Amino acid sequence: MFEKILIANRGEIALRVLRACKEMGIKTVAVHSQIDRNLKHVRLADESVCIGPNPSPQSYLNIPAIISAMEVTDSVAVHPGYGFLAENADFAEQVQKSGFTFIGPDPDVIRMMGDKVSAIVAMKKAGVPTVPGSDGPLPTHDADTCHDIARRIGYPIIIKAAAGGGGRGMRVVHTEGSLMSSISITQNEAKNAFGDDTVYMEKFLQNPRHVEIQVLSDGQGNAIHLGDRDCSLQRRHQKVLEEAPAPGIPEDVRAATAHSCVQACIDIGYKGAGTFEFLYEDGRFYFIEMNTRVQVEHPVTEMVTGVDIIKEQIRVCAGQKLSIKQEDVVIRGHAFECRINAEDPNTFMPCPGTIKNYHAPGGLGVRVDSHLYSGYSVPPNYDSMIAKIITHADTRIEALDRMKNALEETIIDGIRTNIPLQQRLVRDAPFREGGVNIHYLEKKLEG
Ligand code: ADP
Repeated sequence: MFEKILIANRGEIALRVLRACKEMGIKTVAVHSQIDRNLKHVRLADESVCIGPNPSPQSYLNIPAIISAMEVTDSVAVHPGYGFLAENADFAEQVQKSGFTFIGPDPDVIRMMGDKVSAIVAMKKAGVPTVPGSDGPLPTHDADTCHDIARRIGYPIIIKAAAGGGGRGMRVVHTEGSLMSSISITQNEAKNAFGDDTVYMEKFLQNPRHVEIQVLSDGQGNAIHLGDRDCSLQRRHQKVLEEAPAPGIPEDVRAATAHSCVQACIDIGYKGAGTFEFLYEDGRFYFIEMNTRVQVEHPVTEMVTGVDIIKEQIRVCAGQKLSIKQEDVVIRGHAFECRINAEDPNTFMPCPGTIKNYHAPGGLGVRVDSHLYSGYSVPPNYDSMIAKIITHADTRIEALDRMKNALEETIIDGIRTNIPLQQRLVRDAPFREGGVNIHYLEKKLEG
């Protein structure tokens, strides 16, 4: 096992990784920007290194500084968390070249999944259901072929950048007349944003849900899935409230899709924790992308399976075989996660500031993943998510009611948060029914 891990992240996920390391008897190194010197995990880590004199997100993207910090602290592995460098294949490669271990899949696998076109090709080969589409990059210079492909798929279609991410580099096309102009606009945007103008085409699904499947794989021929999560409640492609398992999915469809994800992990030699993201419509799954890291919403899966995803991720990246077999994975009850953001509940503008008083909720089946404490100042420089409240119970409705109480108990004084929005959502009748689609939240906010 690793003796010392450097945590190349901040906030709640850095704390989550630190806790797992401590339980495993692994020493920890925190790296932080100057403004983040008072983060909870920095105080709890065995050692800490300041890697950025200015309080910008750049500190956590500074590859040479992070690798130097590994060298001076004798760290042997780095956990990237999510965001920042977590899906940066060049970082993973430089970590390896410097003689350290990157806790995640091999750089080639990150690269293959980072390019959505090559990801889709690999998934199709493994039998993962994909969205009907161009099956590769669009020949953008050949208008006739582009029109033929679109006609075969059927309008509306969506043009997507192969290198796209964060909901950028996508354009929906409803009619033939605007096809070629939409392709060239998306190409330009993709070139500017990602330095790669490769685009592809997919059928545009009109009212899908977002359902994803969590996998663990050891790169030694063993892979398992931990069931699914529904993350359809989104605003501007940002997830707001997630749950596991996804409600109302026929068991045979879920099992077949999860099985294909496991097969894909074995085929591509996947190592670590990963998520296959799907759109789900009319009883069918359609793969859209794979995330090659741990996700924000991983706790809902941990609550219903009892599996510690971070520990397993560390174990398999240390060269151990998966310790769990598929038949050992049992989904028990239902879990929800509310993302608590430091933001104005009406305008959604970030609300940084000092927390005067903080009180976390508690009780049976309540989990809080957060780096907050009274007196902590939420800086304006980073993502506004400050806490995740997770509840678990035997049934979906009990877990929702537990969340209602947990939200009521939570005190975060001094800044504004989206707790009022979350309170509305857990009381919302259609959401409580289960199975709302990805447009539901935005429509509700408009109405
Ligand atoms: P990103 O990497 O930018 O998040 P994704 O491929 O995951 O891009 O797509 C982001 C979101 O865009 C999806 O969650 C969905 O809302 C929408 N989307 C993507 N592809 C389609 C499609 N074929 N049909 C309908 N909506 C889509």
